[in-house]
Amino acid sequence: MARKSYVGTAVTVSFDPEVCQHSGNCVRGLAGVFDSRRTPWIQPDGAGADEVVAQVGRCPSGALRIEPREPSA
Ligand code: SF4
Repeated sequence: MARKSYVGTAVTVSFDPEVCQHSGNCVRGLAGVFDSRRTPWIQPDGAGADEVVAQVGRCPSGALRIEPREPSA
């Protein structure tokens, strides 16, 4: 169970380092959200929600996922 969630205002992204193929697509494609030099390295509020969803969709391994979240009350 290595998958970890990164909660943003609009979207929550999860990442499993055991699945990651280190293609670097995420870091190259959307550096405002994915930056391995930063902690935490995923900051879902670093770009628009649509951009985050699109970039997660380009992860070739499935290491990145958009997590469903509860509607806010
Ligand atoms: S795009 Fe996916 S497989 Fe590539 S480095 Fe990012 S998380 Fe890993």
